[in-house]
Amino acid sequence: MWEKDESGGSKGHRAMGPPQPNGGADGPSPTGPVPGPSTDQSPLAAAAATGGTTVPPSRYESQKRRDWNTFLQYLRNHKPPLTLARCSGAHVIEFLKYLDQFGKTKVHVIGCPYFGHPNPPAPCACPLKQAWGSLDALIGRLRAAYEENGGRPESNPFGARAVRIYLREVREGQAKARGIPYEKKKRKRPTAALPPPGNVSADLAGAPSTTTTV
Ligand SMILES: [Zn+2]
Repeated sequence: MWEKDESGGSKGHRAMGPPQPNGGADGPSPTGPVPGPSTDQSPLAAAAATGGTTVPPSRYESQKRRDWNTFLQYLRNHKPPLTLARCSGAHVIEFLKYLDQFGKTKVHVIGCPYFGHPNPPAPCACPLKQAWGSLDALIGRLRAAYEENGGRPESNPFGARAVRIYLREVREGQAKARGIPYEKKKRKRPTAALPPPGNVSADLAGAPSTTTTV
């Protein structure tokens, strides 16, 4: 249903798509139909399958589309009914809290003996929530999707100050509860992967996105 990366949390749950039968040791049989690029496929898929130069939609783009559809569905099911035009930062925060029930990140409550333990020696009854990193990246994607779907930057609820403050509170709360100082981790990380333009980093900095509609 709602699958996202857990920043620093679980590992090995990243499904990279079904394994492709690439004609390995067996090789294609000379008679039967060979699985592979066919004219039925979309040009993009065919090009990708044949190893062409056309780049398929990135992981980021497809994730963004999925997130956007999930949010629209959330609005449709909202009680009382809520339209995108009337959506505020408070509604976005409500959405993020709603997503916590699908989270996989253990966030210890203050009374828990493992509060502040990065690696607790035993299970506890504390709730699972969405990791801050997941929420932060999600807001970055939804913020971009909102404007790509015709929303004006100045009315973008995902860029609302309240949302930024909420995310900061989640980050600080989870850092304490899980004993993970996010800032430190960030500094240690080498400059490996840069996020795509108009992504999370721009959101964090509060900078305007590349589409400057006045
Ligand atoms: Zn706990």
